Amino acid sequence: MIDFSKYPAEPFRIKSVEPVAMISREERLKVAQEAGYNTFLINSKDVYIDLLTDSGTNAMSDRQWGGMMIGDEAYAGSRNFHHLEEVVRKHFGFKHLVPTHQGRGAENLLSQIAIKPGQYVPGNMYFTTTRYHQERNGGIFVDIIRDEAHDATLDIPFKGNIDLAKLQKLIDEKGAENIAYVCLAVTVNLAGGQPVAMENMRAVRELTQKHGIKVFYDATRCVENAYFIKEQEAGYADKTISEIVHEMFSYADGCTMSGKKDCLVNIGGFLCMNDEELFQNAKELVVVYEGMPSYGGLAGRDMEAMAIGLEESMQYEYIRHRVLQVRYLGDRLKAAGVPIIEPVGGHAVFLDARRFCPHLTQEQFPAQSLAANLYIESGVRSMERGIVSAGRDINTGENHKPKLETVRLTIPRRVYTYKHMDVVADAVIDLYKNKEQIKGLRFVYEPKQLRFFTARFEEI
Ligand SMILES: *Cc1c(COP(=O)(O)O)cnc(C)c1O
Repeated sequence: MIDFSKYPAEPFRIKSVEPVAMISREERLKVAQEAGYNTFLINSKDVYIDLLTDSGTNAMSDRQWGGMMIGDEAYAGSRNFHHLEEVVRKHFGFKHLVPTHQGRGAENLLSQIAIKPGQYVPGNMYFTTTRYHQERNGGIFVDIIRDEAHDATLDIPFKGNIDLAKLQKLIDEKGAENIAYVCLAVTVNLAGGQPVAMENMRAVRELTQKHGIKVFYDATRCVENAYFIKEQEAGYADKTISEIVHEMFSYADGCTMSGKKDCLVNIGGFLCMNDEELFQNAKELVVVYEGMPSYGGLAGRDMEAMAIGLEESMQYEYIRHRVLQVRYLGDRLKAAGVPIIEPVGGHAVFLDARRFCPHLTQEQFPAQSLAANLYIESGVRSMERGIVSAGRDINTGENHKPKLETVRLTIPRRVYTYKHMDVVADAVIDLYKNKEQIKGLRFVYEPKQLRFFTARFEEI
């Protein structure tokens, strides 16, 4: 049985609420068909519990909303920019900050200034927008995550680690000068929100430094990663979250950040670096794509909310509840025998669609169909992270066939209660009992880029 004492109660009181609607199964079936079985194309008003993403779906605190009122909307040199810069420097330790409208804005800038066409960009598994920008700028993505990350059933800590032997092999074969930088994600979203150990970050730094290769982190969920280090890595139990985050980034040359995740806001992002020349280049480019280097596509109030949110995310009570609430959902599903990716990561529970739908082949898009069926049966919205999200090879046009074929139940921060998690668990368990009803899908419309966002399907 589940031991409830393991899961802390919400470390906040609720003082503003948003009612949610629940439409009938009949209506949901119609909605799903009209959306081409793509949960991205369903309207929010038709969703009961929305686990599509943890991106920009955070609930802000009273202090953050207060901060919105002191937005300094000057075109240049806003005081909120300086506040954000101060908070990021304090916790991350990087010298320079360039705000962007969200994470991919930072990825766009970094890929343009740090990749020469034909260079390799090794990373611990890919992320959709990250790899897209790397490839668009002539980079060649190489997956150097440890093999265990591709095995959904293996319950070991720090499954997001970089395989140092794979990195060494790439350096030996291609030459250090042909590697743009190492892109290290903390945590690894598509591996199931798996964290990277401090020991691994340190080792990556040592190896790359020997060869003069830079390391940039995808810092999107760095606070969740820090919690896992505190919980599971020897020597970190007594360190604060901020101290751990600071040490993590001491092994990097900079980072891209989607503020929509661990900064507890609804929009925002930034790029950090220590190098002066890169900073100059980033500032020259940000005005083309985002705006002045002191606002980067954001309103002053948004920068203020992000500064306050990042500060709040460092509180141990906040991040402990966050990670353990996600784990609670995973534990309930595991107890009922539902196949999920183990161990449960920081931001989501990933259903293993291969084992959930053994009657479907990967080319029948089992995860896409499972997500659509979960919505039809329960009003719970999730997201495909499998063959559809992986897209096609930019050269051969063949489908990438990721080993992991998953449905992501992503938990927004500070939004839902444990009772909501119970409703979700019951719905998934029910569907698992009737899994044979889940049919395969085929494309009716396939966009050329980042196809998962707007593709449409029909049942086979
Ligand atoms: C969300 C995300 C991004 C992109 O950030 P946006 O703010 O959505 O543009 C990059 N990397 C990872 C790991 C993400 O989860």
